[in-house]
Amino acid sequence: MSIFFPRVVINIDSIAYNTQKIAEICHSNDIELVGVTKLALANPEIARVMRKNGVDKLGDSRLKNIIKLYENNVPGPYQLLRIPMISELPLAVKYADEILVSMPETAYEIDKIVGELQKNVQIIYMIDVGDLREGVWYEHAISEIYEVSKQLKFARLVGIGTNVGCYGGVLPTKENMNMLLSIKNELEKLLGYELKVSGGSTVTLKMLEEGSLPKGINQFRVGEGIILGTDATGDRDIPYLKQDTVILEAEVVEVDYKPSVPVGELGKDAFGRTPHFEDKGYRKRIILAVGEQDVKPDGLIPFDKNIKVLHASSDHLIIDVTDCDREFHVGDILKFRMSYGCALRAFTSPYVEKLFVV
Ligand SMILES: *Cc1c(COP(=O)(O)O)cnc(C)c1O
Repeated sequence: MSIFFPRVVINIDSIAYNTQKIAEICHSNDIELVGVTKLALANPEIARVMRKNGVDKLGDSRLKNIIKLYENNVPGPYQLLRIPMISELPLAVKYADEILVSMPETAYEIDKIVGELQKNVQIIYMIDVGDLREGVWYEHAISEIYEVSKQLKFARLVGIGTNVGCYGGVLPTKENMNMLLSIKNELEKLLGYELKVSGGSTVTLKMLEEGSLPKGINQFRVGEGIILGTDATGDRDIPYLKQDTVILEAEVVEVDYKPSVPVGELGKDAFGRTPHFEDKGYRKRIILAVGEQDVKPDGLIPFDKNIKVLHASSDHLIIDVTDCDREFHVGDILKFRMSYGCALRAFTSPYVEKLFVV
């Protein structure tokens, strides 16, 4: 078999390890863990490992990914994370077991289809506690959710949820988690049954570790922590998790010595950006055969700290290696860890090979 670069090398044991650690913390706090697969394009092997190592459900934002999990016989239940399009609801109801929603119209349409298909689907109503992505604004949450739950005939509104750290970069705090819980309490009084509270993701693990998460949040939806061992919003490597889970490898195709400032009249680069150059004289540079079509270049974290990623076009990554001790040659393979955005693109790119090591 030929070996193709660039490639993502997936360490399935480390992903299993991260899953177990996160499941342990969640379960010891009576929290159900949804393992989120979207970062890995719902890779069935990764999803299966999550499910085998303590994840209670699998969640993905893309219906196509949920169908992929189903067709690869990865055991559910499945949670659809992105508030669904009306146009995808017939399939969403067919394949998903739990759906996050934020609009009455969507909930009613789900209800209608559930009635037609005779399939049990649970609805979690999203509340925006400040991050400004999806969810009914917290001030109107009680009346809207109560009204919706009264209108549902077939589907069941089983809980409320929230999402933080995505648009506004809002962090989970005691204040916003307590806000969610007080909405839950009010709603339970009106409805007369208990509600689930889907309140956490990777960034909320910190509160669990510190013991500062208010009691009552009982579902976490975690992707990044499991797959990368990092927390982008909290800006940290999670200390008790492994970060060697997915590694990008790319090949050197040119080694040269060039000025640090271009020669000639300057326009914009291939992406319409105006690059900025600092004159450091002649520099040792290498070109890797990987680019914007494969990765998010500013999200590449080199193993060798003295390597500096300068720029990338669609297919070429330019790196300054002047400060490195070692020599570089055409054909060398360089390794990188990846940020969330970078890993997302690498998994999504058909040009990046996916290789499992055990
Ligand atoms: C992606 C996503 C998550 C998972 O977030 P991580 O930071 O990867 O843990 C949780 N909830 C929703 C709604 C999402 O879209």
